[in-house]
Amino acid sequence: MKAAVFVSHQKIQIQELAEPVPGADEVLIRVTACGVCGTDVHIYHGHVTQGIQPPVVLGHEIAGVIEAVGPNVQHLHRGQNVCVDPVIGCGSCQFCHIARPNLCKDATVIGYKLNGGFAQFLLAPITNIYPLQPDTPPTAGILVETLACVLNGYDKLDLKPGRKALILGAGTVGLLWNQLLRRSPVTLLVNSEPVDTRRERAKRLGADLVIDPEKEDLAAKVREATPEGMDYVIDASGDPQAVEEGIKLVKSGGTFLIFGVCPADATVRINPHEVYQKEMRILGSKMPPYSLQRATQMILGGLINHEQIVTDTFGISRLPEAIDMFESARDKHIKMVIDPWKD
Ligand SMILES: [Zn+2]
Ligand SMILES: [Zn+2]
Repeated sequence: MKAAVFVSHQKIQIQELAEPVPGADEVLIRVTACGVCGTDVHIYHGHVTQGIQPPVVLGHEIAGVIEAVGPNVQHLHRGQNVCVDPVIGCGSCQFCHIARPNLCKDATVIGYKLNGGFAQFLLAPITNIYPLQPDTPPTAGILVETLACVLNGYDKLDLKPGRKALILGAGTVGLLWNQLLRRSPVTLLVNSEPVDTRRERAKRLGADLVIDPEKEDLAAKVREATPEGMDYVIDASGDPQAVEEGIKLVKSGGTFLIFGVCPADATVRINPHEVYQKEMRILGSKMPPYSLQRATQMILGGLINHEQIVTDTFGISRLPEAIDMFESARDKHIKMVIDPWKD
């Protein structure tokens, strides 16, 4: 099978690998699509190394069809359209015991340590498979994993009706947040994003107000719309500067959610007195702890517009190019998808 193997920093090789054989409780998946995520870009550049074991096939936003099942597998069958939860907790630590495998220090992640979806086939344990409908398009299926991450953050917000929310960033994650919050009882939904085409999509997907933080004064624009600030501010940009500015826009009693992945060595300045004065909550949210089932239901229910998010489908040999364009062509590409069967 054809696979894009991450060999070392900034080096991906298209290799011919043996087709894997499923173990007793595993399935072999024929990959129909795999999304290129910001994390893949960080891994490629060596900015994320924890839990990564090259040579490895990256790709954790996986949609595919079951090609073969292991001898113990009963409730899944060949031909089934599925997506994959990439996080495999150790099962026996204090976090796995409270159903939070995303915090497990010994978690094995498909596409980090185990071969992932930038290949024609991959193996996954049955515990991590979520069935889709036969007609669910791969470009919708690949969004389940990211949406599951967003649902984890959404649960933490403890969102009350009649409140106002600001999302920083309108990439894949920001646009999923837009859609989720538009369906929630928020009374004002604002999105801040410097790239024109992304801001337009945020608007199309339900934002009441969009702000260009590079050409406009974000704080002034927010105060104009709501003088006391926002009840909920969600960083979906992973930009430390956006986090620093966004925290100042939280209203008294409000919540700031750090969702985007900032560089591991980044720091931001916060005013602890202001956090105290405002009784502000600052939260973090990482990966999907068993939230893929709900994400799958949302995708199957047609609640998520994937066409506004997935901008391209490329063949496997174009993965390095897609990784390059992730940062360099943000106006043209949002979610890029690899179809390993395409030339
Ligand atoms: Zn991801
Ligand atoms: Zn564990």
